Amino acid sequence: MEEENGVQEERGAVRGGDGLYIHVPFCRSRCPYCHFYSTVDPAFIPQWVQAVGKEADLYRRRFTHFDSLYLGGGTPSLLPEAILGEILETLNRVFSIDPCGEITLEANPGDLTPGKLKHWKAGGINRISLGVQSLNDRELEFLKRRHTVAEARKAIDRIRYAGFDNLNLDFIYGLPGQDAGTWRQTLEGIAALQPEHLSCYELTAEAGTPLDRDVRSGKIGLPGERERRAFFLQTSSFLEARGYEHYEVSNFARGTAHYARHNRKYWNRRRYLGLGPSAHSFDGVRRWWNGRSLKRYLEMLARGRRPAEGEETLSPEQRRLEALLLGFRTRSGVALADLSLNPERRKVLRALESAGKIIQTPERLIPTPKGFLVADRLPLLFC
Ligand code: SF4
Repeated sequence: MEEENGVQEERGAVRGGDGLYIHVPFCRSRCPYCHFYSTVDPAFIPQWVQAVGKEADLYRRRFTHFDSLYLGGGTPSLLPEAILGEILETLNRVFSIDPCGEITLEANPGDLTPGKLKHWKAGGINRISLGVQSLNDRELEFLKRRHTVAEARKAIDRIRYAGFDNLNLDFIYGLPGQDAGTWRQTLEGIAALQPEHLSCYELTAEAGTPLDRDVRSGKIGLPGERERRAFFLQTSSFLEARGYEHYEVSNFARGTAHYARHNRKYWNRRRYLGLGPSAHSFDGVRRWWNGRSLKRYLEMLARGRRPAEGEETLSPEQRRLEALLLGFRTRSGVALADLSLNPERRKVLRALESAGKIIQTPERLIPTPKGFLVADRLPLLFC
């Protein structure tokens, strides 16, 4: 076992492998709360596949070996089987992708047919991340999801029947009208589904989304700060009691073997390459990102140009602050050696310990779930 950032590396990890992310920018319809880039016009899928192949080629010298591949979006599960096969074939031709690594595909319940699942498994997909979001049909309707609870359950049965033993389920809490009792019922339902991994996000009104517009106009009211904190702590204590480790602000796993390897590369500031419109990349020193326009992405690659829209090189101080920001969002915490603890900061640390927000070990500061609630503020107290 390799010790990395205070967290034991999961079994089977290949040391030094980078992470590869493919942004699939297509959805069947847009959900009002979503800020991820996607279009509902599938006509461009064939051109997008060609463009991803060209973009991969542009990076074949800078990135070679990957031990995690994440097909996200957008809605990768809507891709026709032949198209997904073509993408996987292209990526495997250009790069070396460890077949025993973590290979995730994001899916929506309505897309899962036995035929597709069989095809994905044969293509090397070994982890599915399913956007269930709620186990209440009224809430699913509010979120304008295209599936019902019964369809989500059927999709999970199909995933298991197809032999996938690494399943993440996404859920959203903090919906209008939700209270501790209804969320507890949902949590009971979630635990009964026994996924290996769970991502539970608070519903937030991201700038520019229809939800944000409705919240601003007063049409929709979201829970206040106190209720949101209560949902967060309820989620954490309920799932911890059911054997799920709350290892990152929004993520839970049944043991370290099921920590999301790909996402941990973001949190641990490891190298990752993102292909597709709006995808972000980091090579250990520099980060860059593609623009949020499929049309521009296709045009740039048709001219053989990198579709990056912006790029930055972080100074050593920025890198240190970023490492603290990300570290305090995970159960690994941050190394005491990375903090210069003067008497004033030691006083702050003692106050955080007595408030139950931080645990100090001989080498690290570990945030508790209460600490996760203020994770974004913690680094500023130690800088
Ligand atoms: S939440 Fe998922 S399905 Fe809905 S618009 Fe965003 S990416 Fe598409």
